[in-house]
Amino acid sequence: MPLTAPPPPVPPAAGPTAAPRQRVLSSTQRATYRAVAECVLTGAPAATETLDEVVALFDDRVARMPSWQQRELRLAIDLIGSRAAALLAVGRPTPFTRLDAAARTRLFGAWGRSRVPQLRTAHQALRRLTLAIHYGLPASHAAIGYGGPLYLRGAQHPWEGPAAPLTAGAPVDDAEPIQRGGALVTPSTPRPRGVTIGSEITADLALEADAVVIGTGAGGAVAAARLAEAGLDVVMLEEGGWYRGADFTEREVEMTEALYADGGLRSTDDLSVTMLQGRAVGGSTTINWLIMLRTPDWVLDEWKDEHGLEGMRAADLAPVFDRIEAETHARLVPDDAHSANNRLILDGAKALGWAARAGAINARGCVRSGFCGYGCRYDAKQGMLQTYVPRAVAAGARLYADVRADRIELRERETGQGRAPRKRVHASVLDRATGRTRRTLTIDAPLVIAAGGAVGTPALLQRSALGGGGVGAWMRLHPTTAVIGFHDRTILANTGMPLTTLCTEFLRTPASDYGFWIECPPLHPSLGSVAAPGFGEAHAALLRRFPQMGAFITLTRDGAERRVSSGGVRVARNGRTHLHYRLTPSDAATVRRSIVAAAELQLANGAQHVTTLHTRPVTIASSRDLRAIEQASLAPNDVGLFSAHVNGTCRIGRDPATSGATPDGERHGVRGLFICDGSLLPTGVGVNPQETIMAMASVIADRIVERWRAGR
Ligand SMILES: Cc1cc2nc3c(=O)[nH]c(=O)nc-3n(C[C@H](O)[C@H](O)[C@H](O)COP(=O)(O)OP(=O)(O)OC[C@H]3O[C@@H](n4cnc5c(N)ncnc54)[C@H](O)[C@@H]3O)c2cc1C
Ligand code: SF4
Repeated sequence: MPLTAPPPPVPPAAGPTAAPRQRVLSSTQRATYRAVAECVLTGAPAATETLDEVVALFDDRVARMPSWQQRELRLAIDLIGSRAAALLAVGRPTPFTRLDAAARTRLFGAWGRSRVPQLRTAHQALRRLTLAIHYGLPASHAAIGYGGPLYLRGAQHPWEGPAAPLTAGAPVDDAEPIQRGGALVTPSTPRPRGVTIGSEITADLALEADAVVIGTGAGGAVAAARLAEAGLDVVMLEEGGWYRGADFTEREVEMTEALYADGGLRSTDDLSVTMLQGRAVGGSTTINWLIMLRTPDWVLDEWKDEHGLEGMRAADLAPVFDRIEAETHARLVPDDAHSANNRLILDGAKALGWAARAGAINARGCVRSGFCGYGCRYDAKQGMLQTYVPRAVAAGARLYADVRADRIELRERETGQGRAPRKRVHASVLDRATGRTRRTLTIDAPLVIAAGGAVGTPALLQRSALGGGGVGAWMRLHPTTAVIGFHDRTILANTGMPLTTLCTEFLRTPASDYGFWIECPPLHPSLGSVAAPGFGEAHAALLRRFPQMGAFITLTRDGAERRVSSGGVRVARNGRTHLHYRLTPSDAATVRRSIVAAAELQLANGAQHVTTLHTRPVTIASSRDLRAIEQASLAPNDVGLFSAHVNGTCRIGRDPATSGATPDGERHGVRGLFICDGSLLPTGVGVNPQETIMAMASVIADRIVERWRAGR
């Protein structure tokens, strides 16, 4: 019996999948891919019903990829379909389409374990896309017990829907609860004047402003609001679209493609690390999981002592954090509001005697839908879209959505006197459906604030010939992996508030400040199926128990080898952005320990068995088997790694050779060009970074205003 009566069904929204299907695969490639899909989906619930649809959607998805990605995927299909591939893997020169099911499984599996990195990459690309598409389809949802959009089905579990008002004595710092007890209604907030979307721009435009802010995420939105409220004339550019309310359809695949960078396919070139970043007004905060954590004091000390950050010690930042938390309505989650999945962290840690706690989240009127990762339909999430972007616009800032900054041009010679020299930002107005340039937009301004995130910002600087030194290097990304426990009860890790608890037992030890922590992800079926290891029957057996899956993620504070840059961003001559990342030996050891600890935490909750994300699946049923995890390979693509915390690629520092920005966030040597996003962070934060980035942007913006008022 639903706890809240569902509203009448609404017709499916016109998302990206509603557009006419496109085809780019040749008939041979389609036939080969169909055989690959059959192999990957062997035994998968509802696979026989969805196969035609999966092939059509795959073709359509490939058609909308950038040309280099299309080329690589088509090449992989040609290769797997070739007689040579079969000869090498199964000993007979028979095309994949004519192999029997067992031989197909052997060949595809051999690619996943191959010593040749390109074959492992191709295996992962085909495996992940196929699973994501299949488990995104309603037929598979019904078969695995996934309920889909909350607004269509109503709340069904005690941890879903508007929570009861807080009881007296609940651990919140004011009387206003996270949940107001509202209904599952979709507010229809009008788009504010001052926000222009790409399709409304019908001619090339040239603007002037005091400041251009590029990117509207945790850094850019805060900076824009502070500058606009101080009286500066601000133009904001955002490559992604403006979405609100009912635009957020709670359909995983459609929303991933619309709201995530590269349609959710952003990753290192070898696909060994998937990078989750937002691409919409509000940036990653539009799709993030809400936990608000202050930068640990000891990390701020390290930043001061080793990277020269001034005025950002714990005591300096305390009032900034207070202000940010008030402005984003951050509230500690009360004990009776956690989802079943989050309870596993608290209960397991208690059983083991480990440190764990609830966190604060930035929400107001939350109906605990579990869809934070796909945009909040109820305007409850207090991300940038609901807070600093409207504040900036209310203070006079002009926001252009679907507009990508391509290049920053330095227009005036530096005199060292007066205002910073003028710059021109060259931007493209994008067609949201095709990604093609419709019009151009240029803005002249003395101040430019690059806030495109830790991939977008270094790429923009490199395209503008303003790279070099630390720009694009020193990527830190809290390398993350998951550990799934199978329980004898319903967990439904997609339901309820996604991330409200954390286990911090191993974050910092007497031996090292570079440890790990454990949290919960919202496990919707596409994400869950891609995360689950393997393919075919073994994979299908895991997904059949979807409702009983409890999911933890482990996040490692990477960078223990402080002088080693683990990864970076490089724009090639042809404009393609290359991403790379490798675990250093120390970080790999920490990741390994984190997987063992998360498995112990699952077992402490009574999990019947526990599975890791290793490509050769590791499944254990008792703590006696933990050695199997310790021995499993962490080489690229031998374990599923991802990151929602890509940072550090223009890190703050005193030395231009090893950093991208001065301690004030200004690009070394370019007066008036500031960086205000996660790329500034000198090291991994050791906690989820949104509050740190907001605080840093707030401090830097206040310093910019001070300089502006002084005529500089
Ligand atoms: C799925 C997910 C869950 C997360 N959960 C949490 C959490 O619970 N707690 C937490 O603390 N952190 C969380 N994070 C991380 C947090 O949201 C990010 O660290 C933070 O938003 C990064 O801020 P930013 O300003 O660096 O970049 P972003 O917020 O990513 O914003 C950058 C914006 O710039 C735009 N852009 C890029 N290049 C250009 C260009 N050339 N022109 C115009 N626009 C451009 C992008 O489209 C994007 O919208 C999560 C992130 C993700 C992806
Ligand atoms: S904040 Fe997240 S959980 Fe709460 S209503 Fe919005 S999307 Fe749902």
